[in-house]
Amino acid sequence: MRLSQYFLPTLRDDPKEAEIVSHRFMLRAGMIRQESAGIYSWLPLGLRVLKKIEQIVREEQNRTGAIEVLMPTIQSADLWRKSGRYDDYGKEMLRITDRHDREMLYGPTNEEMITDILRAGTQSYKDLPVNLYHIQWKFRDEVRPRFGIMRGREFLMKDAYSFDLNAEDAVHSYNKMFVAYLRTYARMGLKAIPMRADTGPIGGDNSHEFLILADTGESEVFFDKDLHDMDWSAFEVDYDDRDVVSGVVRDFTSKYAATDEMYVESEFHDKVEEKKRLSGRGIEVGHIFLFGTKYSEPLGAVVQDPDGKPVPVHSGSYGVGVSRLVGAIIESSHDENGIIWPASVAPFDVGLINLRAGDEATDNACQVLYDQMGDAGLDVLYDDKDDRAGGKFSRMDLIGLPWQVIIGPRGVKDGKAEVKNRATGERHDVEMSKVAAFLRDNSPESSA
Ligand code: ATP
Ligand code: MG
Repeated sequence: MRLSQYFLPTLRDDPKEAEIVSHRFMLRAGMIRQESAGIYSWLPLGLRVLKKIEQIVREEQNRTGAIEVLMPTIQSADLWRKSGRYDDYGKEMLRITDRHDREMLYGPTNEEMITDILRAGTQSYKDLPVNLYHIQWKFRDEVRPRFGIMRGREFLMKDAYSFDLNAEDAVHSYNKMFVAYLRTYARMGLKAIPMRADTGPIGGDNSHEFLILADTGESEVFFDKDLHDMDWSAFEVDYDDRDVVSGVVRDFTSKYAATDEMYVESEFHDKVEEKKRLSGRGIEVGHIFLFGTKYSEPLGAVVQDPDGKPVPVHSGSYGVGVSRLVGAIIESSHDENGIIWPASVAPFDVGLINLRAGDEATDNACQVLYDQMGDAGLDVLYDDKDDRAGGKFSRMDLIGLPWQVIIGPRGVKDGKAEVKNRATGERHDVEMSKVAAFLRDNSPESSA
C-alpha cells in the first residue's frame, strides 16, 4: 500500500479527550474516530488490526471444534422475556420499538437467541456436544463509556456457547475454551491471567475472567507470582483428551488469582507466601461462564437422553472483547513515540520510508524493494510522500509497524538499506537485494 494513496489521518498532537495511552495513540495513528459517546468508526489502519485479532480468535475457536455462525445485532424482546432477563438487564440494554410497535433490542449478548437456535435444531443427545460462536457487534449503554474503544457502548465481541448432555461434559467444553483463551492471547503477545470471577447478570456456577496487567486497567487484581512466571506461550494440546485439557486448567487455576470482586485477603495470605503476593491493575479481555441449565430450562432447549428421556442441555458462554483487545495490546506494548505492534496483529509487516521522494534513483530503488517484499509475502506500507524526513520517522514510529526499511540517496549509492526493528530500536545496514530475506529470517515465527 502506498501512503500517498492510503487514508491515514494521523495527528501530531495529543487529543485532549484521551486519558490513557492506547486511546491517545489510536486517535493519533488515525485508527478510529469517535462518532458519539462510546461509538466509533474504524478507519483503515484500525480495521486492519481489528481483523487480525478477529482472525486469531476465530482460528483458535475453530481449533477446539467450535463452529462459527452469525446472529443479528437486533433481537426481539420475546426470548428475553422467557429467560426473565428483559427486566433484569436494566438500562444497559438499548431498547428499540419497530414500526409495528414490537419491542426489539440491540443485543448486549446472545444466550437467549443461541439457546433457541439450538432448541429448534436439536432433538437427540446424539446431536451434542456442540459449541456455536459468532463475532458480532454488541451494544451496552454503559453509564460511563471511556478510554476509547476499551469501554465502548458499541463493541465487537466473540461469544461462544457450548451445549452438552450433562454437567460433566459441559465442564470439558468449559475447559477447552479456557485453554483456547490461553492460546489466543499468547498468539497476540499477551499474558492474560485467568482469575476466578463473579458471574454477574449472565449467572452461573463457574466463571473465569482473563486479565492483562496494565496500570490503566479498571480492575484491581491480586495474584501469585508463580502464576505470573508460568509458561505463557501458545502450547499445543489435544482438545479431545479430557485429562490433558483439565490438567492445563488445573495448572493455571491452582494458584491464587482474583479480581477485587472476588478477593478475600485472608485467603490470599493463606495460599500465597508473602514475597510472592503480587497486586496491580488489569484489563478484562475475556470472560467465560458455566451456567448449566439456566437458559435451557426456561427456553425449552431439551434433548432426548440415551434412555429416551427429555433433559435440558447444559451450557456455558465464552466472551472475548475483540475490539477492547486492540487497546489492551497497545497498553501493554508501546513506548513514548507510539505503538509497538506484536507481529501477529500488526496492520502491516513493514513500513518502507523513501527519504527523497521524487528523486529518480531513490524512487526506483524503493519500487524494487516494495515489489520484492510484496513477492516475499510481506504486507508493506510504502511512505512515498514528499514530506520531511523527521515527520516520516515519527509517523512510522507512531503507527508501530514491526519493521522499518529506510531508503535515502546515500544508501542507494552504496546499494544498502537501513532496516530498523521498531521494538528494539536496532538498526542494520542490509544489502538492498537481501532485505526481504533478512526480514523473513528475523521475524518471529507465526504460531498459527
Ligand atoms: P466489564 O466488567 O468490563 O464491564 P463485562 O463483564 O460486563 O465487562 P462480559 O459480559 O464478560 O463483559 O463480556 C465479555 C467481554 O467483552 C469482556 O471480557 C470484555 O473484554 C468485553 N467487553 C465488555 N463490555 C465491553 C465494553 N463496554 N467495551 C468493550 N469491550 C467490552
Ligand atoms: Mg465480564
